[in-house]
Amino acid sequence: MRKKCEKCSVELQDQSDAYICVHECTYCETCTSEMNHVCMNCNGELVRRPKAGAQIVSCQLS
Ligand SMILES: [Zn+2]
Ligand SMILES: [Zn+2]
Repeated sequence: MRKKCEKCSVELQDQSDAYICVHECTYCETCTSEMNHVCMNCNGELVRRPKAGAQIVSCQLS
């Protein structure tokens, strides 16, 4: 699990809101909204990263 935003390099704590794409590029919430929830590396959709300790729900309606 990456600890920094790939765009602005801000530190991302386990409990802070972060967003990841399918390739696990990781961004902070600010950069994610700036990019309209699209990864700048692979154009994948960015989704909210589960917080540490949270149960990962893989069943997601699109
Ligand atoms: Zn950022
Ligand atoms: Zn990506």
